[in-house]
Amino acid sequence: MFTDTKGVLGTMTDKIFDMVIIGGGPAGMTAGIYASRALLDVVLFEKGAYGGQMLTTAHLENYPGFPDGIGGFELADLMHRQAETFKLTIEYRLVDKIRKEGDLFVLDSGSDEIRTRTVVFATGATPNKMGVPGEERLTGRGVSYCATCDGALYRDRTVAVIGGGDSAVEEALFLTRFASKVHIVHRRDQLRAVPLTAKRALSNDRIMMEWNTIMKEVQGQDDVEEIILEDVKSGETRSLEVDGVFIYVGITPLTGPIAHLVELDESGYVVTDKNMESSVPGLFAAGDVRSGSIRQVSSAVGDGATASFYAYKYLEEMKIEFGV
Ligand code: NAP
Repeated sequence: MFTDTKGVLGTMTDKIFDMVIIGGGPAGMTAGIYASRALLDVVLFEKGAYGGQMLTTAHLENYPGFPDGIGGFELADLMHRQAETFKLTIEYRLVDKIRKEGDLFVLDSGSDEIRTRTVVFATGATPNKMGVPGEERLTGRGVSYCATCDGALYRDRTVAVIGGGDSAVEEALFLTRFASKVHIVHRRDQLRAVPLTAKRALSNDRIMMEWNTIMKEVQGQDDVEEIILEDVKSGETRSLEVDGVFIYVGITPLTGPIAHLVELDESGYVVTDKNMESSVPGLFAAGDVRSGSIRQVSSAVGDGATASFYAYKYLEEMKIEFGV
């Protein structure tokens, strides 16, 4: 049982929603704020903790409105509190598959079928694994994909960060608050991260650059003890003693429930028009899962607002009666 945005008590399966939002990151949360404020009959489904990748970001410096920057957790919490102000219903559940039946979308979630007129798909993306020996076995025992979550465990210790993009370099800088030495292992001789971030890392005494180098293996009995590195130019391998490895080698969009239904680009992201509508009318995509997204919290917020706005227009055009 749950209480919807209009205060009506019911079950998920005995009604037709105006909008179901999937994903509680900045895109989904913004779509939810707009839709609940417009008094749509809307629910947001989140499979884990709301906040998305904001939760794995220690400090955001480029989200407007916070001149001193803001922590990812803190921003997620503020967005959630704002959604609560408009009585957005957030349900913790996994959506397995979405299909279209006539004008409605049917969402398979466990043994439930949930019906809705529009969908805002904002599931985001997940960090890539490297697939090297030892990585999976030692995940949670020194291998991590989240410096914000695990960084404090490495006070006065040595860690490696794999990758040269914004995530890798920003999180390497964050790790210097705790670790005495941070090795950035990058496969090229130039960072991909934006120049300001790159410059900060290159001038930080605690950061050591391992250029033209890839990680071949993670070793350790119970916890990470060392990593095996290969010089991509000479092919030479060596071992580096570290207490932790933080892997930031890109991300993969989470399109599982709709991959069979909508057009995806060559990298697997959902293709949308400028209104965030996918190739299937009524199904909108927003945030990191969308093709062409610049993968910023600020752009995800914009995507979420746009998707919600045009979903509302779509409902209006269907001449569906909603609201009070
Ligand atoms: P990314 O930009 O795709 O960078 C991935 C990094 O991992 C690259 O340096 C890449 O090397 C390296 N890499 C990929 N596969 C590898 C492999 N198999 N072995 C070794 N290295 C590998 O990913 P990201 O850093 O997660 O960023 C994702 C997006 O979010 C980007 O658009 C980024 O700008 C954005 N972002 C923005 C901010 C911010 O604005 N504050 C913060 C974080 C992320 P190459 O460089 O050689 O390709």
